[in-house]
Amino acid sequence: VIEIGQPEHSVITTCAYCGVGCNFKAEMRGEELVRMVPWKDGKANHGHSCVKGRFAYGYSTHRERILNPMIREKTSDPWREVTWEEAYAHVVSEFRRIQYQYGRDSIGALTSSRCTNEETYIVQKLVRAGFGNNNVDTCARVCHSPTGYGLGQTFGTSAGTQDFDSVEHTDVIIIIGANPSDAHPVFASRMKKRLREGAKLIVIDPRRTELVSAPHVKAAFHLPLKPGTNVAILTALAHVIVTEGLCDEAFIRERCDWSEFEDWAAFVAEPRHSPEETEAFTGVPAEALRGAARLFATGGNGSIYYGLGVTEHSQGSTAVIAIANLAMVTGNIGRTGVGVNPLRGQNNVQGSCDMGSFPHELPGYRHISDESTRDIYEKMWGVTLNPEPGLRVNNMLDAAVDGSFKALYVQGEDILQSDPDTRHVAAGLSSMECVVVQDLFLNETANYAHVFLPGSTFLEKDGTFTNAERRINRVRRVMTPRNGYADWEVTQNLARAMGLDWNYTHPSEIMDEIAATTPSFALVSYDYLDKVGSIQWPCNEQHPLGSPIMHVDGFVRGKGKFIRTEYVATDEKTGPRFPLLLTTGRILSQYNVGAQTRRTDNVAWHAEDRLEIHPHDAENRGIRDGDWVRLASRAGETTLRALVTDRVAPGVVYTTFHHPGTQANVITTDFADWATSCPEYKVTAVQISPSNGP
Ligand code: SF4
Repeated sequence: VIEIGQPEHSVITTCAYCGVGCNFKAEMRGEELVRMVPWKDGKANHGHSCVKGRFAYGYSTHRERILNPMIREKTSDPWREVTWEEAYAHVVSEFRRIQYQYGRDSIGALTSSRCTNEETYIVQKLVRAGFGNNNVDTCARVCHSPTGYGLGQTFGTSAGTQDFDSVEHTDVIIIIGANPSDAHPVFASRMKKRLREGAKLIVIDPRRTELVSAPHVKAAFHLPLKPGTNVAILTALAHVIVTEGLCDEAFIRERCDWSEFEDWAAFVAEPRHSPEETEAFTGVPAEALRGAARLFATGGNGSIYYGLGVTEHSQGSTAVIAIANLAMVTGNIGRTGVGVNPLRGQNNVQGSCDMGSFPHELPGYRHISDESTRDIYEKMWGVTLNPEPGLRVNNMLDAAVDGSFKALYVQGEDILQSDPDTRHVAAGLSSMECVVVQDLFLNETANYAHVFLPGSTFLEKDGTFTNAERRINRVRRVMTPRNGYADWEVTQNLARAMGLDWNYTHPSEIMDEIAATTPSFALVSYDYLDKVGSIQWPCNEQHPLGSPIMHVDGFVRGKGKFIRTEYVATDEKTGPRFPLLLTTGRILSQYNVGAQTRRTDNVAWHAEDRLEIHPHDAENRGIRDGDWVRLASRAGETTLRALVTDRVAPGVVYTTFHHPGTQANVITTDFADWATSCPEYKVTAVQISPSNGP
């Protein structure tokens, strides 16, 4: 006899929210998910979870999910439900017409860091082998693309260097531009445990995040910098270390290029990079800068964790390089308890980058211009690959406005909400002749779509996600796809309709192809993952048990490379019209633009986004806590309610962006990272004024 609501069986799978990658036991009763129980053997979470993974899965069965394919001739027409075959035929006929009329490069696709490795792998394969160009990009473009550039240049590959477990051997933690308590809560708990045991904490953030003054944690230093000055702060820390003789010379001589180090050391030692000079324009007291630098250099094992507060800037790539420099100059790379760690926002940011979702890179971060790498895929796929990098998403939108880019396949991403300068995104999308959206819900981007292909949730498919510590975790199907097909099947059917001879019968076969063509995944297979639970890449002949720590005997690129990091102030300036700086972040119960979490009971914990404003700035404008305010920038304006708090410094305001009405990206500008085009979401000059509401 089975009681109502009691599970009959369970399946081990992986949370589809943040980059911690917690494992859960999905307890099922038939097709009904009874509850998600954090799995005690999960190597990233050890039985812990947060309120998103534990409770926010109801969107999977939400009534607003679209379950049938739909097409329409014009975006002003009503949607018309069609069969899958009609939908595929329509897409293929439109893509063929457009390429015939406007050229091979007039179409492209976007993969998603929400989807599995296998799904992103076959989308980039579809573009390169089916579209015949390299016009593929990923939503990692707008979050961690500077990590790819910065760590690639300095260390040789784009990945966190240490595993989560090794925080237990860290003595000094730097957190810069990240708020793990809200965005990576399970890992934040592990950090707090280590901090309670006596490790020291340095927080570099314009806002007083929870970790700054959490009970029994209390940061040794909080450096509340002016938004946009990360590079200056990091260079000033290096200045103190170099000029006070705190470098780890033995490490540098053995592991790094010495002449590049000497050049860099001479640069950071210049008096203009001193804490006293830096205080003047960052607002961080010189003594705090000196103290933090000395603590990091002399306090034992040092680890640096960073987030989008580092990358989403016009100097995002430079700041990542500055972080790598700081780790190398103190010898904090290549062993347990030390390292550089990008905290990935989405579940599979690491994986989508690993899988070749960028227009210039094949899987495993190998440049498309490299003939020997292309040769591997040309033999495997039976095609000739284009050696020229394709268009980034921002270039696709620019080209659409200019009239040369006409069709886009978007899998699992809502670019109208998540990309910068909403008006430009809308202009680009509305200039295209065929926009195909594959998603769970009719999102904002779908307003500009001609074809809608229903997507599947993580509960409905097999695959793998790769978390922020490079851990490849299995995602296991616990229920039948409500739309009939997992996302990888939809992409494969589209490829077949285009005439490609694809015959995967299970995602494990896609992983076998990934392993056969990507050296860092050479020994990865579903059988092996089932045996060991999860594994961290590189996993190959040299590292059969995976690699919890990277760059142990040498950097992937050989010698570690010090690079000068000249601070250049952003072009986004404050002035009389826009005197405040807006920065953004997330809250614990919600996730990104909220497409999933808003369709669960978690929404009760955060029913609206609020604008945090310092009491002085609020008083000057006659604004009280809870008042409606108008938030205006050079790009646009929106309305939301004020939260008066000294968590933000005078001159700085802050908001979350989980509700579509907030329209944070109507406010943000089109300034972007110089190397990767990652948008500068974290610095926008704004004015706040009282409002009567939306
Ligand atoms: Fe773990 Fe992140 Fe999921 Fe929370 S959202 S359960 S921390 S993976």
